[in-house]
Amino acid sequence: KVLLCGGGNAIHVLASYVSALPDTEVCILSLFPGEAERLRKAIPEKGIKCDNDLGDDVYGEPVIVSDDVEEVAPGADVVILALPSFTHETYLKALKYCLKPGVTLGAMPGEGGFDLCARHVLGDDFVSVSNLFALETLPWACRILEYGKAVEVLGTKNEIDVVITPKRGGSIEPILGLLQKLVGRLPLMVPACNFLAVTLMNINSVWHPTISYGFYRDKDVTKPFDEPPLFYQGADEFTGDKLAKVSDEVLELKRVLLEKYPGLDLSSLHHVREWMSRSYRDDVQDKSSIYKMLLTNKGYRGLTHPMVPVDTPEGKMKYLPNFKYRYFAEDIPMGLVVTRGIAELAGVPTPHMDDVILWCQERMGKEYLVDGKLCGKDLQSTRAPQHFGFKDLDTFMKVNRYGE
Ligand code: NAD
Repeated sequence: KVLLCGGGNAIHVLASYVSALPDTEVCILSLFPGEAERLRKAIPEKGIKCDNDLGDDVYGEPVIVSDDVEEVAPGADVVILALPSFTHETYLKALKYCLKPGVTLGAMPGEGGFDLCARHVLGDDFVSVSNLFALETLPWACRILEYGKAVEVLGTKNEIDVVITPKRGGSIEPILGLLQKLVGRLPLMVPACNFLAVTLMNINSVWHPTISYGFYRDKDVTKPFDEPPLFYQGADEFTGDKLAKVSDEVLELKRVLLEKYPGLDLSSLHHVREWMSRSYRDDVQDKSSIYKMLLTNKGYRGLTHPMVPVDTPEGKMKYLPNFKYRYFAEDIPMGLVVTRGIAELAGVPTPHMDDVILWCQERMGKEYLVDGKLCGKDLQSTRAPQHFGFKDLDTFMKVNRYGE
């Protein structure tokens, strides 16, 4: 029994794939007002069709779509949150009293600090007897073609990292196998070392906010652009340098953590330079600097900054930056702010990360970082350790079992 939480692009793909598997019963829970009813009415009898870039198009029909946790959650063997990370806490709170111990529960994608949030909401006792997982990213680039009826997988990733904390005394292998079965033959699920390493390696949290900051830092963001500017190819040397410096700060945090906790495994945490070389290999023509890598990566060609179209008095469509997009709404509070919070506990200075967070929070109309401390009024909407009450590194490491 698989419970899918959400109602967007990813849920359409999962609902189609997983419902099509034998011996699997799929329910969907959407807490977004009105969405469950809309989705239930839209799904045709033969199910949701998924057009797939691998050529294995499938139809799958979930058995129930509901906004009532009690109708769908009890008895679920697997629970998957496939929605924007700022909704995870709401879903976990709603699910809390309906989940059975031993459940396999996780997020696609996880973003930073998913385990902190789950342990905080569900409690350590529950998490210890359950299997927690998070995927570093969504297995697919996908979009709904027709709501409730058809979805398209534009690209399936080859390989993605998945972090799994099995129930105490359990092994990750059966969970890995189960997740692979649910998403299909690709992408290949590669186990990452632990949640802390995955949180600190969250590439989106470094990439998106820093590139946005670098591009807009000396521009008037209230003046519409004629066209959406190029995201990666529009970066300059300053931005490449800033990305390197933010990543250096993360690696300094890694060094300090390993020095203090010698048994800790952070082997999957690398500099963004290495991440780019490993992820894109021959797609990157010039690897001499991060700036050149951004400019010459085939996979990044033509991608633009997220914008909002605006009409002008001359009747011509122009574009303003979209500071509500996930590059900010997810990658700051569930990304860079989480890393910054861990650095604060470890006493590692992060002046470059701070520049990026301060600039982004102003554009977002939020307040996380104040006078060099994570104590702003919007901290409760983040997954920084400070939001969950952690005040010292030892307690943070111990309670979250990162050394185990
Ligand atoms: P989506 O935008 O289609 O999901 C929207 C869904 O999230 C809604 O249908 C609703 O169920 C829920 N939601 C949104 N705001 C909510 C709120 N305020 N309260 C409660 N529920 C709310 O997202 P998606 O495309 O399915 O992607 C899921 C996650 O994967 C996101 O974090 C996204 O950033 C990430 N991602 C998506 C893609 C992709 O190709 N679609 C690629 C990479 C990463």
